[in-house]
Amino acid sequence: MSEQPDSRLAGKHVIVTGGARGIGRGIAVRCARSGADVSLFDLRSSVAEETAQRVRELGGEAAVYEVDVTDEAAVEEAVAAACDELGPIHGLVNNAGVQQAIPLLETTEADWDRHMAVNAKGTFFVAKHVAASMIDDGIEGSIVNISSVGAEQPLAGQGAYGASKAAVLAFTTVLANELAEYGITANAIKPGTVDTPMVTQWLEERAEQYDKTENELLAETVDEHVLDRIGKPEEVGHVATLLLSEEGDWITGESIAIDGGYLKK
Ligand code: NAD
Repeated sequence: MSEQPDSRLAGKHVIVTGGARGIGRGIAVRCARSGADVSLFDLRSSVAEETAQRVRELGGEAAVYEVDVTDEAAVEEAVAAACDELGPIHGLVNNAGVQQAIPLLETTEADWDRHMAVNAKGTFFVAKHVAASMIDDGIEGSIVNISSVGAEQPLAGQGAYGASKAAVLAFTTVLANELAEYGITANAIKPGTVDTPMVTQWLEERAEQYDKTENELLAETVDEHVLDRIGKPEEVGHVATLLLSEEGDWITGESIAIDGGYLKK
């Protein structure tokens, strides 16, 4: 796909959670390339500033909010502040997430709760407050929730993660149905393995558990994708941009795999 800037999101304000690095950064930068202004919600605010700088270099406005998406009061406050700073919100990408490879018998209640809190509850909190803001402002916006191929085909060690990402898919269907009357669409993206710090950490953990090298595990992971490579954050950004733009106006309640064919293998 072309690296050329376009104006598909010109004049639109998009919130990207977990936008400091990885897929969130790829989405934020890709949206800016299509003309969006971007608010970044992340725990890592100083790293998020680097993403903000990339957005500004592409001509967009950017603002960073240090927010834990599991804290509803903080989310509500940040949504209001983002609206004040960059104007009404047209798009949301619920991307903040955590993943740890933990075998069932070693998974603690705290492990389970952490995955559910960030991946499922955080998605709910941000969607709820952004939807309320869109409705108040009369904006027919778009919400994109980042799920995972792990929602449908989780690996060993992905019990808590897979369950939390399946929750995101169910929640997206409800969002689509409830928000349709306000002209707001809601869709999910299911990425396959994408080259990010989360995957680097995941390879380290699995290497220890399976007594293999990270390179061996990476080769196995690559082999699980029909296209024989892992993805780049911007490749998830392309589809998020489409869903947030006018081109996505008649798509809702959908979950789209951006996975190099992982779910087809
Ligand atoms: P990452 O760990 O590289 O980045 C995640 C970002 O989320 C970080 O900037 C982190 O600070 C932020 N974050 C974590 N907890 C937060 C919280 N409580 N509040 C606010 N921000 C928080 O991960 P990534 O690989 O870029 O993954 C992004 C999303 O894509 C996640 O939801 C992940 O589950 C999903 N995903 C990733 C892959 C992959 O292969 N990388 C595959 C499928 C789905």
